[in-house]
Amino acid sequence: MKSIRFPDGTTVPALGQGTWMMAEQAMQRRAEIAALRAGIDLGMTLIDTAEMYANGASERLVGEAIVGRREDVFLVSKAYPQNASSDRLPRACEASLKRLGTDRLDLYLLHWRGSVPLRETVEAMNRLIAAGKILRWGVSNFDTEDMEDLVAAGGSAGATNQVLYNLTRRGPEHDLLPWLDDRDIPVMAYSPVEQGRLLGNPKLVAIAEELAATAAQVAIAWSLRHDNMIAIPKAGSVAHVRENRAAAGLELSNDDLAALDAAFPRPRKRVPLEML
Ligand code: NAP
Repeated sequence: MKSIRFPDGTTVPALGQGTWMMAEQAMQRRAEIAALRAGIDLGMTLIDTAEMYANGASERLVGEAIVGRREDVFLVSKAYPQNASSDRLPRACEASLKRLGTDRLDLYLLHWRGSVPLRETVEAMNRLIAAGKILRWGVSNFDTEDMEDLVAAGGSAGATNQVLYNLTRRGPEHDLLPWLDDRDIPVMAYSPVEQGRLLGNPKLVAIAEELAATAAQVAIAWSLRHDNMIAIPKAGSVAHVRENRAAAGLELSNDDLAALDAAFPRPRKRVPLEML
């Protein structure tokens, strides 16, 4: 699987695993844990979660899935904006670590921008690094101006920006993706199959059939065509994980990309960053 490099030189697989909506239904729990473990076995070792997901239960589920496998996993979690202050961030981080059953996060993200000054959040993140609680920090749902503000406030753009990006959400191509590319900051594309809404799209299904692939695979492979992009689809079953893993081996030709461009054109004008 292709690797993506963070600014500090650490590499991760381009295809990871999301966990939003996991741990919401007790009946799904075993299947979700099995799905995450299968993903790790298949090399999708980056796992993305957040204190917000299922009110912390998603982190607990991830903690259970990675028992005995912590060293194999690149663990990402996110803090609520209201927890991004100097006094609250250490507590939020400690609570996430406890739920995840680990002593450190590989990457800690500010989930979206709130009212806490960015400088204060960056300083709190750097103290967590110094304390060994997190190995690096980043942001999520930051548009280009937010990234500029972040650099102005803290002197660094962090390790990544996790944003909504898929065939139907191509707005970031205008200036956010080039901004990040210019600085060698990887993008984490969330909702790569638009939370399932893309999968029945007749245009995508037709293109996928031509490629003897599934709609999910084409949508994921399309995100992974970027050199600097990590995609984190969420899959609640081993079958979906296997299907998504195969997307990392699906090569889209220039003709395929042109067909996808025609079916899912990027917006003609810049649009503000969308979020789910
Ligand atoms: P997504 O990954 O685009 O879609 C997940 C949905 O697609 C689930 O319903 C899943 O169903 C289905 N699915 C996945 N693979 C499939 C396949 N091969 N065949 C059929 N259905 C398939 O949406 P997402 O969960 O919103 O985004 C991914 C991750 O990004 C999240 O889980 C979360 O970790 C992160 N995220 C971050 C933010 C943020 O603000 N930073 C926002 C949204 C998401 P099953 O469960 O049945 O497999």
